[in-house]
Amino acid sequence: MVLPLALGVQSFDSSQVHAMLLAVADRIIAAEAELSEADRRLGDGDHGLGMQRGMQAAKTKLAELDNSATVGELFGAMGMAMISSMGGASGVVFGSMFRVGTKTLKDSPEAFTSLGLSALLRSASETIMKRGGAKPGDKTMLDALVPAADKASDCAQLPLSKALEQVATAAENGRDASSALIATKGRAKTLGQDSIGHPDAGACSVAIILRTMADCAAKS
Ligand code: ADP
Ligand code: MG
Repeated sequence: MVLPLALGVQSFDSSQVHAMLLAVADRIIAAEAELSEADRRLGDGDHGLGMQRGMQAAKTKLAELDNSATVGELFGAMGMAMISSMGGASGVVFGSMFRVGTKTLKDSPEAFTSLGLSALLRSASETIMKRGGAKPGDKTMLDALVPAADKASDCAQLPLSKALEQVATAAENGRDASSALIATKGRAKTLGQDSIGHPDAGACSVAIILRTMADCAAKS
């Protein structure tokens, strides 16, 4: 008997994107203690609570949208809900990661593909660098997001499940590598050398977000 090759899911339609974004929100909400602990080591310990508030608002917003919402509208609504509920710099930083989907995913309203993933992560990285003035190496969430965006460019022709698997691994490697960096931006910059030895809290969030997306694609 010839078994079919496990090719993985090629793309997600908008109802699958809706379910994936809800799974992301639930996973971040469940990680509140872990994210706050990561921020406590380097910052003020509120990252988990901020992300939890943003993701609760995102869930409420996603529940209001009916099934006519396009892929880009779903990402965009999630990002806007995060920006307006979290406030502050981290609201803009993390909200932008999703919000840029309104524009970058417009050309493929019914399908979230690896090409869309690549465009989304590239635009998110550039927008966050422009708005926040940080760059890779400064020990922020960009140390997970930029390697993830680079990997997504390499994987833009693969089925979505295969691309997300590699992108999530790149984000996790970036998160792990952020431990060795000295913080130069945000609250942790006052720690100097003492910031070495722990991963950045925002990089932990990025890794969770992308791993949850990969898990959703692997299960489909
Ligand atoms: P706050 O710093 O206001 O307490 P959070 O604790 O919610 O906000 O978020 C902190 C995370 O935000 C950091 O771990 C870092 O990853 C990210 N961050 C902070 N400033 C920037 C920036 N300028 N660019 C990119 N990410 C940033
Ligand atoms: Mg904080």
